[in-house]
Amino acid sequence: MTQAFSIHPAVDNGVTAAAANFPGGTLQCRCADKKVTVAIKGQCAHNHVCGCTKCWKPAGALFSQVAVVGRDNLSVTANGDKLKVVDANAAIKRYACSACGVHMYGRIDNTKHPLYGFDFIHPELSAESGWAGPEFAAFVSSIIESGADPANMGAVRARLKELKLEPYDCLSPALMDFLATHAAKASGVLKG
Ligand SMILES: [Zn+2]
Ligand SMILES: [Zn+2]
Repeated sequence: MTQAFSIHPAVDNGVTAAAANFPGGTLQCRCADKKVTVAIKGQCAHNHVCGCTKCWKPAGALFSQVAVVGRDNLSVTANGDKLKVVDANAAIKRYACSACGVHMYGRIDNTKHPLYGFDFIHPELSAESGWAGPEFAAFVSSIIESGADPANMGAVRARLKELKLEPYDCLSPALMDFLATHAAKASGVLKG
């Protein structure tokens, strides 16, 4: 079935299954030469499509595809001098190629942040196949802030459900619970 819109090229034809024992891959920016490359060891986790206004999206896609990897499993392997932080004040510092604009990875410096230790990546920047595919859709309503037609949201949510990407207007319940548990422990409301 052809769609009038693209959720994201990685899922428009269905979400692909993860390869067993996937060894990882190399993310490449979209420059014709002197590509920034980032090596990832092992499989990604919590892959999802994201409608927020901060994540990098490929042209024409309503959503980004974003997943996490342990920061120790990520290393910049070529042309790292081209990387620039998009917004130094954001909790997640997104390192983008200053020539082509692609976000290569996002990193959290605040050790107290619940997701400290995880880097954010866009798996489609790697030529390797076998990454764990998206599991849900986050910040769906936010695509309107990027210019999506509010009248089309019913069709977008229906398509996400068809792709088995449950639409949420924040993160998934499991991740929201994780963040709230971290906050409750930090404030002392929850012990242990
Ligand atoms: Zn580039
Ligand atoms: Zn996002």
